[in-house]
Amino acid sequence: MKKGKLYIISGPSGCGKSTVLREVFRHRRNIFFSVSATTRGPREGEVDGKDYYFVTREEFERMIGADELLEHAQYVSNYYGTPRKPVEAMLSEGNDVVLDIEVQGAGQVKTKMPEAVSLFILPPSLEELERRLRGRGTETEEKIRSRLSQAEREIAKSGSYDYRVVNDDVERAAGEIVQIMRRIRRRK
Ligand code: 5GP
Repeated sequence: MKKGKLYIISGPSGCGKSTVLREVFRHRRNIFFSVSATTRGPREGEVDGKDYYFVTREEFERMIGADELLEHAQYVSNYYGTPRKPVEAMLSEGNDVVLDIEVQGAGQVKTKMPEAVSLFILPPSLEELERRLRGRGTETEEKIRSRLSQAEREIAKSGSYDYRVVNDDVERAAGEIVQIMRRIRRRK
């Protein structure tokens, strides 16, 4: 059986990535979201095992030591990482997999699996990103500042991605990603 395709999708927090991805999943079958492990606490509405595996620092460090993660990174003082086994299983069953990860992790995956396709989702502007981050209303001023400067650093690295998609409109951006995935699937 043909292996599935691995998609790395990055974008600064607040760029609307999760909403765009939800829309992409509505249009594509045989494509799965890789649930990451994180030491960050759950936001309102987030479900353990669906949005993330919420774990302690001790548990996360154990996973690193046991080589259970395909990649991992620290982001705004928390750990985030991709459990390796589920990703490998889904790919070998012929399913496509989406990793929603930040740029350091994306670099690690591209090094290990150069056949992975990387996409970067950009906000229409930094002003719009700041407006969206504040609108979320879940974070302190300090966290917002830190996420904004992180965003600027990430955007500066977006040039190394295979594709860049501007989230000016959720439907349009999702449509563009679905088209990219269709083209790649045909090529396989
Ligand atoms: P958030 O806290 O807003 O859910 O995520 C913060 C950042 O961590 C986002 O850019 C998200 O893509 C990234 N992220 C989520 N899961 C992982 C992961 O498993 N590995 C890495 N490297 N980054 C992740």
